[in-house]
Amino acid sequence: MNADLHCHSTASDGLLAPAALVERACARGVTMFALTDHDAIAGLDEARDAAAARGLRFIDGVEISVTWRGTTLHVVGLNIDPANEDLRRGLVSVRGSRVRRARRIAESLESAGIAGSFEGAMARAENPEIVSRTHFARFLVERGHARDVRAVFHHFLVQGKPGYVPHEWAALGDAVAWIRAAGGVGVIAHPGRYKLSRPDVRELIAEFMRCGGAGIEVVTGSHTPEQYAEFAALARELGLLASRGSDFHGPGESKVELGSLPQLPADLQPVWRDW
Ligand code: AMP
Ligand code: MN
Ligand code: MN
Ligand code: MN
Repeated sequence: MNADLHCHSTASDGLLAPAALVERACARGVTMFALTDHDAIAGLDEARDAAAARGLRFIDGVEISVTWRGTTLHVVGLNIDPANEDLRRGLVSVRGSRVRRARRIAESLESAGIAGSFEGAMARAENPEIVSRTHFARFLVERGHARDVRAVFHHFLVQGKPGYVPHEWAALGDAVAWIRAAGGVGVIAHPGRYKLSRPDVRELIAEFMRCGGAGIEVVTGSHTPEQYAEFAALARELGLLASRGSDFHGPGESKVELGSLPQLPADLQPVWRDW
């Protein structure tokens, strides 16, 4: 089994169209594949059709933006029913604020002497409702303000830097509830990436589980090998289902290729156990 249960298409901030992503996943030996665009399910039909044509096991997914105690974090929903109305309404509400946030990001960059970033970001967002910091980052790279997208996030768009604006995303309990209403499993995305202390991570996971969340990403492109071990131990201790996903955004932009991460530790319960 080579499961890759976290990646992005042009339906959010990925560089490849859903069908092209599926094509690439097949070429890299992925055998179970989930598309998890930010706050969006618009790419799922195309990806599902492409996967069916190639005999690739496809899982409908989404990655929901959440604000918890002032920190932005991401909850992946896997094996969701994209037709579910609670989920769809929830995602509409999260998406609704992205364009307004983009205007504020652009005003902040303008104050730092960088003009035209709203138009620049919107032009790079295939779905304008999902305009994201990644689209601003690509604009800033093309304008020569940074070497690559990763470098942008050292100098711009993060707290204390030009282009940073605070933003309120979905509540944790709401995001998990929408995923569950759609029959899916809620999974904490890349827990090692948040600026939270270890005790805070535990509190987050406890609250997440009380809300009905059941999974955690252990092996992800955002974790170091030390973090694979750290979150594997947490999954074992707390009885969480474990997930594996590259968080691939596109060739040349992501450090981890589709389906190329190490396997989950064999004793963990994989999130796909009951599928
Ligand atoms: P947004 O949801 O609009 O705030 O954008 C978040 C996206 O920005 C993430 O999903 C990543 O794709 C990208 N991002 C955030 N931090 C970094 C980073 N340090 N390096 C590269 N991409 C990043
Ligand atoms: Mn992203
Ligand atoms: Mn994420
Ligand atoms: Mn992601």
